[in-house]
Amino acid sequence: MPGGAVVQTPRGPITLARGCGGCTLCCRVLEAATLGKPMGVLCQHCVVGTGCGVHATRVDECRNYHCGWLLDGTLGEEWRPETAHLIITYDLDGRRLNVNADPDYPDAWRQEPYYSQLKSWAAAALERNSQVVAYVGRHTFVMLPDRHVDLGVFTDDDYIFIEHLADGSWNASKVNEEQAEELRRSGKAPN
Ligand code: SF4
Ligand code: SF4
Repeated sequence: MPGGAVVQTPRGPITLARGCGGCTLCCRVLEAATLGKPMGVLCQHCVVGTGCGVHATRVDECRNYHCGWLLDGTLGEEWRPETAHLIITYDLDGRRLNVNADPDYPDAWRQEPYYSQLKSWAAAALERNSQVVAYVGRHTFVMLPDRHVDLGVFTDDDYIFIEHLADGSWNASKVNEEQAEELRRSGKAPN
Protein backbone atom coordinates (compact mmCIF):
# COMPACT_ATOMS: atom_id res chain seq x y z
CA MET A 1 0.00 0.00 0.00
CA PRO A 2 1.39 3.43 -0.86
CA GLY A 3 1.31 6.38 1.54
CA GLY A 4 -2.03 8.16 1.48
CA ALA A 5 -3.89 4.91 0.78
CA VAL A 6 -7.14 4.41 2.68
CA VAL A 7 -7.45 0.89 4.06
CA GLN A 8 -10.38 -0.81 5.75
CA THR A 9 -9.83 -2.17 9.25
CA PRO A 10 -12.17 -3.72 11.84
CA ARG A 11 -12.33 -0.25 13.44
CA GLY A 12 -13.20 1.50 10.19
CA PRO A 13 -11.14 3.06 7.41
CA ILE A 14 -7.72 4.56 8.14
CA THR A 15 -5.37 6.58 5.98
CA LEU A 16 -1.80 5.31 5.86
CA ALA A 17 0.99 7.88 6.19
CA ARG A 18 3.36 5.67 4.22
CA GLY A 19 3.67 2.40 2.37
CA CYS A 20 5.88 -0.57 3.27
CA GLY A 21 8.16 -0.13 0.25
CA GLY A 22 10.32 -3.22 0.22
CA CYS A 23 10.14 -3.76 3.99
CA THR A 24 9.06 -7.22 5.10
CA LEU A 25 10.36 -7.09 8.67
CA CYS A 26 7.07 -7.84 10.44
CA CYS A 27 6.67 -10.98 8.31
CA ARG A 28 9.67 -12.38 10.17
CA VAL A 29 9.73 -10.63 13.56
CA LEU A 30 6.06 -10.81 14.62
CA GLU A 31 3.81 -13.77 15.29
CA ALA A 32 1.07 -14.58 12.77
CA ALA A 33 -1.10 -16.88 14.86
CA THR A 34 -3.60 -17.55 12.05
CA LEU A 35 -0.77 -18.95 9.95
CA GLY A 36 0.85 -20.82 12.85
CA LYS A 37 3.90 -18.62 12.33
CA PRO A 38 5.86 -17.97 15.51
CA MET A 39 7.80 -14.79 16.28
CA GLY A 40 11.22 -14.55 14.68
CA VAL A 41 10.48 -17.02 11.87
CA LEU A 42 10.17 -15.82 8.29
CA CYS A 43 6.70 -16.46 6.88
CA GLN A 44 6.68 -19.03 4.09
CA HIS A 45 4.80 -16.54 1.88
CA CYS A 46 7.27 -13.68 2.33
CA VAL A 47 9.35 -12.50 -0.61
CA VAL A 48 12.12 -10.69 1.24
CA GLY A 49 12.75 -7.20 -0.11
CA THR A 50 9.53 -7.27 -2.14
CA GLY A 51 6.51 -8.04 0.04
CA CYS A 52 3.84 -10.63 0.63
CA GLY A 53 3.73 -13.41 -1.94
CA VAL A 54 0.01 -13.94 -1.29
CA HIS A 55 -0.93 -10.27 -0.87
CA ALA A 56 -4.35 -10.52 -2.53
CA THR A 57 -5.45 -13.47 -0.43
CA ARG A 58 -3.52 -12.88 2.80
CA VAL A 59 -5.34 -13.69 6.04
CA ASP A 60 -7.22 -10.97 7.93
CA GLU A 61 -4.58 -10.94 10.68
CA CYS A 62 -2.04 -9.73 8.10
CA ARG A 63 -4.53 -7.57 6.18
CA ASN A 64 -5.43 -5.69 9.37
CA TYR A 65 -1.87 -5.18 10.59
CA HIS A 66 -0.26 -1.77 10.06
CA CYS A 67 2.87 -0.89 12.00
CA GLY A 68 3.43 2.51 13.59
CA TRP A 69 5.75 3.54 10.77
CA LEU A 70 2.86 3.26 8.32
CA LEU A 71 0.37 5.00 10.61
CA ASP A 72 2.34 7.89 12.06
CA GLY A 73 3.73 10.31 9.51
CA THR A 74 5.47 12.31 12.25
CA LEU A 75 7.97 9.52 12.99
CA GLY A 76 11.42 10.44 11.78
CA GLU A 77 13.34 8.48 9.16
CA GLU A 78 15.30 6.74 11.94
CA TRP A 79 12.11 4.80 12.78
CA ARG A 80 11.90 3.13 9.38
CA PRO A 81 11.63 -0.51 10.59
CA GLU A 82 14.53 -1.88 8.57
CA THR A 83 16.73 1.03 9.74
CA ALA A 84 15.74 0.88 13.39
CA HIS A 85 15.52 -2.94 13.49
CA LEU A 86 12.42 -2.16 15.55
CA ILE A 87 8.71 -2.42 14.79
CA ILE A 88 6.25 -0.13 16.54
CA THR A 89 2.72 -1.43 17.10
CA TYR A 90 -0.17 0.42 18.76
CA ASP A 91 -1.93 -2.17 20.91
CA LEU A 92 -4.91 -2.32 23.30
CA ASP A 93 -6.73 0.48 21.45
CA GLY A 94 -3.68 2.69 21.77
CA ARG A 95 -3.14 2.04 25.48
CA ARG A 96 0.15 0.25 24.81
CA LEU A 97 2.92 1.06 22.40
CA ASN A 98 4.81 -2.15 21.63
CA VAL A 99 8.30 -2.04 20.20
CA ASN A 100 9.47 -5.41 18.86
CA ALA A 101 13.18 -5.73 18.15
CA ASP A 102 14.51 -7.78 15.28
CA PRO A 103 16.03 -10.77 17.15
CA ASP A 104 19.16 -10.34 15.00
CA TYR A 105 19.53 -6.92 16.69
CA PRO A 106 18.33 -7.61 20.25
CA ASP A 107 19.91 -4.45 21.67
CA ALA A 108 18.45 -2.10 19.04
CA TRP A 109 15.94 -0.60 21.48
CA ARG A 110 18.74 0.19 23.94
CA GLN A 111 20.66 2.19 21.35
CA GLU A 112 20.30 5.91 20.79
CA PRO A 113 18.29 7.73 19.64
CA TYR A 114 15.76 4.98 20.39
CA TYR A 115 16.33 4.48 24.12
CA SER A 116 15.84 8.17 24.96
CA GLN A 117 12.82 8.38 22.68
CA LEU A 118 11.20 5.33 24.29
CA LYS A 119 11.72 6.77 27.79
CA SER A 120 10.25 10.08 26.64
CA TRP A 121 7.23 8.34 25.10
CA ALA A 122 6.85 6.32 28.31
CA ALA A 123 6.76 9.50 30.42
CA ALA A 124 3.91 10.86 28.31
CA ALA A 125 2.13 7.49 28.07
CA LEU A 126 2.15 6.79 31.81
CA GLU A 127 0.43 10.10 32.52
CA ARG A 128 -2.53 8.93 30.41
CA ASN A 129 -2.61 5.37 31.77
CA SER A 130 -0.76 3.90 28.80
CA GLN A 131 2.47 1.91 28.49
CA VAL A 132 5.55 1.65 26.30
CA VAL A 133 7.00 -1.86 26.18
CA ALA A 134 10.01 -3.22 24.29
CA TYR A 135 10.26 -6.90 23.36
CA VAL A 136 12.94 -9.22 22.10
CA GLY A 137 10.82 -12.23 21.25
CA ARG A 138 8.85 -12.76 24.46
CA HIS A 139 11.50 -11.13 26.64
CA THR A 140 9.70 -8.05 27.94
CA PHE A 141 11.16 -4.71 28.99
CA VAL A 142 8.84 -2.01 30.37
CA MET A 143 9.98 1.52 29.58
CA LEU A 144 9.75 4.10 32.35
CA PRO A 145 10.63 7.80 32.18
CA ASP A 146 14.11 7.26 33.64
CA ARG A 147 14.93 3.60 32.97
CA HIS A 148 13.57 0.26 31.83
CA VAL A 149 12.49 -2.74 33.91
CA ASP A 150 13.43 -6.21 32.65
CA LEU A 151 10.42 -8.46 33.35
CA GLY A 152 11.95 -11.56 31.77
CA VAL A 153 10.27 -13.91 29.34
CA PHE A 154 6.47 -13.72 29.27
CA THR A 155 3.92 -16.49 28.85
CA ASP A 156 0.30 -15.93 27.78
CA ASP A 157 -0.65 -15.93 31.49
CA ASP A 158 1.64 -13.04 32.44
CA TYR A 159 0.56 -9.43 32.73
CA ILE A 160 2.35 -6.11 33.18
CA PHE A 161 1.52 -4.07 36.27
CA ILE A 162 2.84 -0.51 36.47
CA GLU A 163 2.45 1.50 39.65
CA HIS A 164 3.00 5.14 40.50
CA LEU A 165 4.89 5.22 43.81
CA ALA A 166 4.40 7.74 46.58
CA ASP A 167 7.70 9.45 45.79
CA GLY A 168 6.47 10.17 42.25
CA SER A 169 8.57 7.47 40.57
CA TRP A 170 7.22 4.51 38.57
CA ASN A 171 7.82 0.78 38.87
CA ALA A 172 6.77 -2.21 36.80
CA SER A 173 6.32 -5.85 37.71
CA LYS A 174 5.06 -9.10 36.21
CA VAL A 175 1.84 -10.49 37.68
CA ASN A 176 -0.18 -13.61 36.91
CA GLU A 177 -3.81 -13.68 35.81
CA GLU A 178 -5.18 -14.03 39.33
CA GLN A 179 -3.08 -11.12 40.61
CA ALA A 180 -4.06 -9.01 37.59
CA GLU A 181 -7.75 -9.65 38.27
CA GLU A 182 -7.33 -8.66 41.92
CA LEU A 183 -5.50 -5.45 40.90
CA ARG A 184 -8.37 -4.60 38.53
CA ARG A 185 -10.99 -5.35 41.20
CA SER A 186 -9.21 -3.11 43.70
CA GLY A 187 -8.93 -0.30 41.13
CA LYS A 188 -5.12 -0.41 41.16
CA ALA A 189 -5.00 -1.49 37.51
CA PRO A 190 -7.22 -0.33 34.63
CA ASN A 191 -9.82 -2.76 33.23
S1 SF4 B 1 7.20 -3.61 9.59
FE1 SF4 B 1 5.75 -2.03 8.90
S2 SF4 B 1 6.69 -1.18 7.05
FE2 SF4 B 1 7.68 -3.16 7.46
S3 SF4 B 1 6.48 -4.67 6.26
FE3 SF4 B 1 5.62 -4.62 8.32
S4 SF4 B 1 3.92 -3.16 8.19
FE4 SF4 B 1 5.24 -2.79 6.41
S1 SF4 C 1 1.03 -13.97 4.75
FE1 SF4 C 1 2.07 -12.26 3.76
S2 SF4 C 1 1.66 -10.49 5.11
FE2 SF4 C 1 1.22 -12.34 6.30
S3 SF4 C 1 3.11 -12.79 7.41
FE3 SF4 C 1 3.13 -13.98 5.50
S4 SF4 C 1 4.24 -12.71 4.03
FE4 SF4 C 1 3.64 -11.38 5.74
